Amino acid sequence: MHELSLAQGIRRILEDEAKSQGFEKVTAVWLDIGALSHADPEALEFCFAASMAGSLAEGAALHIARTPGRAWCWSCAKEVPLARRIDPCPDCGGHRLEVVGGDDMRVRELEVS
Ligand SMILES: [Zn+2]
Repeated sequence: MHELSLAQGIRRILEDEAKSQGFEKVTAVWLDIGALSHADPEALEFCFAASMAGSLAEGAALHIARTPGRAWCWSCAKEVPLARRIDPCPDCGGHRLEVVGGDDMRVRELEVS
């Protein structure tokens, strides 16, 4: 499952951060998930809990925020908001779009102790 590898990636990020910043426990994680990424927040929440078992973030709360998608429209020659990958440009209705943001996932903030 895609979300499982994402969750395991988050665990590695947390373990690296713990090493470099010297904390021992993560109690909450804030995640930004781009609207155009393929990650399903519900599935990710489930996989997160499973992946953190036995780690420094066992039982940590997960807060997921959806960040909006953005694309460059070659017809309008400007950046436009994009809710889904298959959507046309909201201004000209064209499909000459290149996704420039909101297609990734990142750890925005950690609560540690
Ligand atoms: Zn356009």
